[in-house]
Amino acid sequence: MHRTVAFSRKAVNVFFHILTSCNLKCRHCYINPEQHGKNALDGKTIEAWLAAFDPRHKKANVIFLGGEPTLHPGLPDAIRAARRLGYHSITIDTNGYLFNGILEKVTPGQVDVISFSLDGATASTNDRIRGKGSFKACLDGIARARKAGFSTSLIYTVSDLNLGELPRMPDLLEKIGIDHFFIQVIGLRGPWAGKDRHVPAGPVPRQVPARRWLEVVPPVARQVAARGIMVTYPKVYLEPGEPFECAGLVAENYFVFPNGRVYRCPLCEDYPLHSLEFVAGKLVETSGINEARLFNLAIAEGCVMNKLIQPQNLAASEQEHRRYRIACCMLKEEIIPDYALQMPEKK
Ligand code: SF4
Ligand code: SF4
Repeated sequence: MHRTVAFSRKAVNVFFHILTSCNLKCRHCYINPEQHGKNALDGKTIEAWLAAFDPRHKKANVIFLGGEPTLHPGLPDAIRAARRLGYHSITIDTNGYLFNGILEKVTPGQVDVISFSLDGATASTNDRIRGKGSFKACLDGIARARKAGFSTSLIYTVSDLNLGELPRMPDLLEKIGIDHFFIQVIGLRGPWAGKDRHVPAGPVPRQVPARRWLEVVPPVARQVAARGIMVTYPKVYLEPGEPFECAGLVAENYFVFPNGRVYRCPLCEDYPLHSLEFVAGKLVETSGINEARLFNLAIAEGCVMNKLIQPQNLAASEQEHRRYRIACCMLKEEIIPDYALQMPEKK
């Protein structure tokens, strides 16, 4: 079954960055310590902030992120706290190194999915983007997680450096036994996108033109689903007549950073445009100009934040983009293999 996933008005998704440090320096990393903080949150703060999203009263999902979240020795306690507080699902997003013996400290009953990031079907392509040895480390991590009984997903961030290898992913995914494949579009944000790039010298990953995206991504997604693997990928371009909706207005997504900033839109994360923040353990609205005041602006091109923050995205291929409107970056296409539709929900 192929469907566009409408924004859920009933679920709360908390993307919780518990620290910003990482062992890798990926070329497309969006983590910006100047804007997101350099600290690791202590256990008490993590629990208080998790509780602030009222997980017992809505279907709440938490995704623990970093930096590399497994570098945080308090991650197992954070996972247990999220369970106690009533979170419906818990995901760990990792680069695969799985530090601090995380697989021995939590169980598949406590963690719904461990999600791995890989940006190539070969070591040469992936390691050019994510760093030497990261392909092997990620595949080893997936094998260890599967052996320990965890469900696994894999995130592939598409740029001009790796689009060519996407068609090789169905074979690899089947071989390594991934349950759910996420294709992402590279965001033009993070330190690498600015003047003060912190990443090693080398090629800069760029977004691919609309024509290439549409030629390659949806067909590969269908091939992956044909192997029985669930696939999610961003809509990116709206079809003629398709309505535009801003997730910031209709969905509850919270992107939480260790300096206390909470964003509703990931495109804003390079700027102090957060609409919420934690002050003395309480989640409060920020004043002045913030992302929430921009969500209502309707423009012909679709997402206003793309126009303001990523004009190069729209200008990169001027002729093509005149034919497309840009969807909210949170709008996804999903292909569910037939067998999965017949399975009962996990919880
Ligand atoms: S993208 Fe993730 S794994 Fe790569 S440097 Fe950034 S935080 Fe680390
Ligand atoms: S990406 Fe655009 S449409 Fe989506 S939440 Fe942000 S501003 Fe709204």
